[in-house]
Amino acid sequence: MAHRNTALDDELRAYLVAHSAREIAPQAGLRDATRSHPAAGMQIGADQGQFLGLLIKLLGARRAIEVGVFTGYSALAVALALPEDGRLLACDISDEYTRVGRPFWEAAGVAAKIELKLGPALATLDARIAAGEAGQYDFAFIDADKSSYDAYYERCLVLLRQGGLIAIDNVLWGGSVARPAKDADTAALQALNDKIHADQRVDMAMLSIGDGVTLARKR
Ligand code: SAM
Ligand code: CA
Repeated sequence: MAHRNTALDDELRAYLVAHSAREIAPQAGLRDATRSHPAAGMQIGADQGQFLGLLIKLLGARRAIEVGVFTGYSALAVALALPEDGRLLACDISDEYTRVGRPFWEAAGVAAKIELKLGPALATLDARIAAGEAGQYDFAFIDADKSSYDAYYERCLVLLRQGGLIAIDNVLWGGSVARPAKDADTAALQALNDKIHADQRVDMAMLSIGDGVTLARKR
């Protein structure tokens, strides 16, 4: 390729995080509290949290959705960027994971902005559509079970206003999307990446931040 692409080794990645993330104490605390968790690798990086917060502010978002909360780091980053009267509908099936985050949401003073809904996210999103909330959300972050990503994408498109933004995580899936799929999650991500690239309902870009993030703006 003629243009410069900078690969991140550990040293450069540390430099990038140090010059992007502006973590406050509860964010660093939640990262510490998650570090020993066997599934800690599911948490987004501090640089990606910073990026999500910037997106919220660029959008002037007041109402946001998160599909896949884990221990609550990405929810905390989004909630911190929302205005005082902003609300985040946070969807997860695990009380065990999400209960780790609440004390840090409290410490950061944003717990009241976060409505945690435990249960299959598809049912939660369908209930919100049925309740007449279509077109009322500004932002959605999709980061739960990969086989359901397409269904989450479709529900979030309904729930977003025109000009609203969906951020979809792990679209590069450790690099496996570029090779023939050997498992269902890779195949699901490949199919969704193909679909969104051609989807004229949205403006889009795929970014190599973290494990890959696609941004799709509802037209
Ligand atoms: N966004 C989080 C962060 O950055 O810390 C990471 C989310 S983790 C990759 C995926 C989460 O999706 C897990 O917490 C899991 O419990 C949740 N999940 C899996 N299947 C789900 C479903 N059907 N509905 C809702 N949440 C689900
Ligand atoms: Ca993720």
